[in-house]
Amino acid sequence: MPPLDLNLTMDKIHSMSQDVENALETANYDKLLNSGLQIAIVGRPNVGKSSLLNAWSKSERAIVTEIAGTTRDVVEASVTVRGIPVTLLDTAGIRETDDIVEKIGVERSEAVAMGADVIIMTVSALDGWTLEDTKLLDTIQFKKKSIGSSTPVILVVNKIDCAPSVCTDWVDRDRNAFSKQVFTCAVTGQGIPDLEAAILEIVGLNRIPAGGRRWTVNQRQCEQLVRTKEALVRLKSSIEEEMPLDFWTIDLREAALALGQISGEDISEEVLSDIFSKFCIGK
Ligand code: GDP
Repeated sequence: MPPLDLNLTMDKIHSMSQDVENALETANYDKLLNSGLQIAIVGRPNVGKSSLLNAWSKSERAIVTEIAGTTRDVVEASVTVRGIPVTLLDTAGIRETDDIVEKIGVERSEAVAMGADVIIMTVSALDGWTLEDTKLLDTIQFKKKSIGSSTPVILVVNKIDCAPSVCTDWVDRDRNAFSKQVFTCAVTGQGIPDLEAAILEIVGLNRIPAGGRRWTVNQRQCEQLVRTKEALVRLKSSIEEEMPLDFWTIDLREAALALGQISGEDISEEVLSDIFSKFCIGK
């Protein structure tokens, strides 16, 4: 046998790992195509949550008035973002209230937010960041922590038309609490494409080609790909740590078996034993 070209071997493993990663990415898409995304829009009353839902879904689903506390229950609307079905949930404005009906609405809002895949916290550019916004953010963070949730939160600064040169100092202050920040005007729909882009990026779908995907891997294939990926990681470290060749073969074999499960090729024990025995690896 010619001496092994380590660089070439490593290049091949890298490119194989990349192919596995690419295939794994489609698993997320498959899951999202089936189950869709739930997005909860939260914020204090009157910041423009219902207007945002209406503008986004191009409907009049939610009632919009200048009276704070109009939305008292969760209002749903559906949109499609890059082929993914998205359910928008407009929640009652979260604030402290003595009104019993509004109180139930606020409790429901908090529950919906905790069950969502992404939370959109809306604030008003006109009012800037208020004490109530701080309280709401604290509540969200506290609830997330108590249930061990890592749901991403996007900050939407709405009513940007009323304060076009909004000072972003207060936005930056809480930057760590938010995965992204987007500026919108719910009346005109300005900023909604940015919001969609932010969501796609957060859920890792920004690399989907515009025409969608031609194939995705299913749950069973996904499990085999994870097995392959882990085997390739171990293989790379065996090579880097200059372990003997027979150590490499254990993981290489594991990766081949896992991939064989996907391709349908039956890589039986006999075939592998035959191949490896011929090369006398480990002897
Ligand atoms: P919610 O209580 O947070 O759901 O707020 P609404 O959607 O009911 O909006 C409260 C008020 O703000 C309404 O009078 C809306 O027309 C107005 N509004 C909402 N979004 C905007 C916006 O982007 N710009 C302006 N100028 N007004 C807005």
